[in-house]
Amino acid sequence: MIRVVVAGSTGSIGRQTLEVIAAEPDRYEVVALSAGASVEAIVAQARAVRPRVVAVADVEARREVAAALDGVEVVDDVAPVCAEADVVVNGVVGFAGLAVTVATLAAGRRLALANKESLIAAGPVVQPLRATPGAELIPMDSEHSALHQCLRSSVDASREVSRLVLTASGGPFRGRSGEELASVTVEEALAHPTWSMGPKITVDSSTLMNKGLEVIEAHELFGVDYDDIEVVVHPQSVVHSMVEFSDGSTIAQLSMPDMRLPIAYALAWPERSSVPFGRIDWASLGSLEFDAPDRATFRCLDLAYAAGRAGGTAPAVLSAANEVAVEAFLAGRIAWSAIPEVATSVLDEHAVHPPTSVEDVIEADRSAREAASSWLASRGC
Ligand code: MG
Repeated sequence: MIRVVVAGSTGSIGRQTLEVIAAEPDRYEVVALSAGASVEAIVAQARAVRPRVVAVADVEARREVAAALDGVEVVDDVAPVCAEADVVVNGVVGFAGLAVTVATLAAGRRLALANKESLIAAGPVVQPLRATPGAELIPMDSEHSALHQCLRSSVDASREVSRLVLTASGGPFRGRSGEELASVTVEEALAHPTWSMGPKITVDSSTLMNKGLEVIEAHELFGVDYDDIEVVVHPQSVVHSMVEFSDGSTIAQLSMPDMRLPIAYALAWPERSSVPFGRIDWASLGSLEFDAPDRATFRCLDLAYAAGRAGGTAPAVLSAANEVAVEAFLAGRIAWSAIPEVATSVLDEHAVHPPTSVEDVIEADRSAREAASSWLASRGC
């Protein structure tokens, strides 16, 4: 049995992780679940999978969960339990996922990472932890899972890889001009054409910030230079990403868009899941299209490349400013087109420096949130 901790179990990734586990019940044992404040959802999950521990961050919600569950230890933080697992799924949303990333790698466990923000923001701090004996990082992000799968065909990736090609669906606003995008609504931004995901990442997809952050994520995961990471728009979301090798060959990973496949891949690694997800029906697939991204209209993509190249605290600051801007957009306080403005302004004012500890990263995150909030306040948002 593979022992699994599911951090962020009530979110989109967490729920799909439990579906994958339910599809192969003899293969996995759930040790712990965690959530922020979703009482009903986590109580129902805990009754179904019977974990030893349930972690709930919110105090009041924790009391309610403890009252509803018998025979389960209810705690405030899942991080200390990560050492008990063979694999920890980090499906926490946003920067809050950093503690789980750090705890899992430091304990020498396999981290199935859906929380890209922790790697993007804290790359310089997280990287050394990957050298902990037993520690492994398997991406759950569909593009990076694809790259991970393509790289399995290489004997020596450091010599044989010439570039990584990340595919982007282009989101709901692909093909629209800056003028047309000035007045888009929250509902329009949340209507993703191919993927069903949480609200934060769906908005990030609509701005291409998600793809930009994924470029940084790919750089951190696979150690490839930014000059050798390319983004191509592929509206069907069937080719999840590609690796081009030194001999000119390109290997791609294809499947229908279904997050359960990269989730199952990371859970079962180094084996493969025996249950298929996202199988392709070639007779009905139709054509696959590829196109260059519109970098002038979707400025967040180049903003992320710039932050990635600047390194140090820049990716943490970009990610934090973006989180604040996206929350403000979702709350109807700013226009969609203001999201890159907030991020650009905060990044421009920030003095980039190399973070040497988790505290440094937390401070960079905090100051960027403060700067983003004052940007909003100064405009009466
Ligand atoms: Mg992705």
